[in-house]
Amino acid sequence: MILSGIVLSIICVISVSTSHLWNYQDQYYWPGDLCSKITNQSPIDLVESTMTIMYLKPFVFTNWNKVYDAELLNDGHSIDVYLRYDGPITVEAGGLPGLYKLHQIHFHWPSEHTINGRRKALEQHFVTYQHQYESIDDAKKHYNGIAVIGVLYKLSAQANENLLPIVNNIGKVKNFENSTMITINPSKLLPRNLRKFYRYSGSLTTPDCNEGVVWTIFSDVDSISPQQKHRH
Ligand SMILES: [Zn+2]
Repeated sequence: MILSGIVLSIICVISVSTSHLWNYQDQYYWPGDLCSKITNQSPIDLVESTMTIMYLKPFVFTNWNKVYDAELLNDGHSIDVYLRYDGPITVEAGGLPGLYKLHQIHFHWPSEHTINGRRKALEQHFVTYQHQYESIDDAKKHYNGIAVIGVLYKLSAQANENLLPIVNNIGKVKNFENSTMITINPSKLLPRNLRKFYRYSGSLTTPDCNEGVVWTIFSDVDSISPQQKHRH
């Protein structure tokens, strides 16, 4: 099987959050020297006319299509989902430089990335790190140590049933450090078309702006109803 992936030949920088001591209004003051760099910043506008098309092996998602207990947590900036699992949930191929383990899932509203200048209602990030590293913090120190897989959502009249485990429980985590347990199948949060995506090397989008993050944004945009987005 051949996977068509649209690959962006831009090298960018990212920033990752390890503390609660920053906010989106004061980005100039974000901790970490890398955050203030202009040339290598994530997120970016994904402009299709500037991309190079590449053909890559399809992604291999292992242990994603199962129902897991998970913690839904308000970290002060986003809603995070931490799955409880015995064996690792992994992703490889699709042009990724190794085998990556799922660390957590979180959301940004509106979207961070734009496609051809257009911002979407919601952006979901699967944060993964290379399997040989002990922890996400260890992986952050290494080029290509972290890979973030993004799914964009646009508004639509129809509610998205796959997001219900999160949307139905969002009211329980309204405040910083609130958490609750849910059950969720992570494969349901992937878009239907996994064959076309944008790929670039960037950074984490929150402090400390670590570089060398492998970014994947699927071009298949999912949908969410205005009522569901409002509950975020
Ligand atoms: Zn994110």
